Amino acid sequence: MRCPVCRNPNTKVLDSRDGRDATSIRRRRQCEGCGHRFTTFERIEENLPVVLKRGGGRQPFDRNKLLGGLKLACRKRPVKPDQLETLVAQIEQWAFTRGDREVYATEIGERAMHYLHDLDPVAYVRFVSVYRSFESVEEFERLLHEMEKAERVDPEGQRTLFEAAAARANAAKAEGRDRGEGG
Ligand SMILES: [Zn+2]
Repeated sequence: MRCPVCRNPNTKVLDSRDGRDATSIRRRRQCEGCGHRFTTFERIEENLPVVLKRGGGRQPFDRNKLLGGLKLACRKRPVKPDQLETLVAQIEQWAFTRGDREVYATEIGERAMHYLHDLDPVAYVRFVSVYRSFESVEEFERLLHEMEKAERVDPEGQRTLFEAAAARANAAKAEGRDRGEGG
């Protein structure tokens, strides 16, 4: 997405919202070169590839879900909302332009990790833990609540608690597999 004024290819997304019809996204962008602010209407959702989930199954690409997970990972971290909007827009552009009709959820996750790594190391570790160990955003949210409680008591306890919870989640999954449940 180039700046219409100076042609700089680096723009950040200030805000994203659904356009007038359900098939477009309206984005406020700002050029990182000259500071020019402009609006784009991106008609992409109908053409976005279908996401293949880890446990099997397919679902449409859900920008808000991805953004929600990233926001949780960045809670109380010095990451600005527009940085996450830009990150999600980058992933969308990637998914949209690669030309395949299907994309694996794991690929989206890996990509998000890659970008997040550059933004904030702590948020990166949180996202990776969640991504590798937890099935849902709700589970992640519960864990973050636990972490914040532990943090108030013992700032050093945070990491340990996270690892313990991740191990629990993995153990539960393994147990499910042993009993022949789940995917
Ligand atoms: Zn510009």
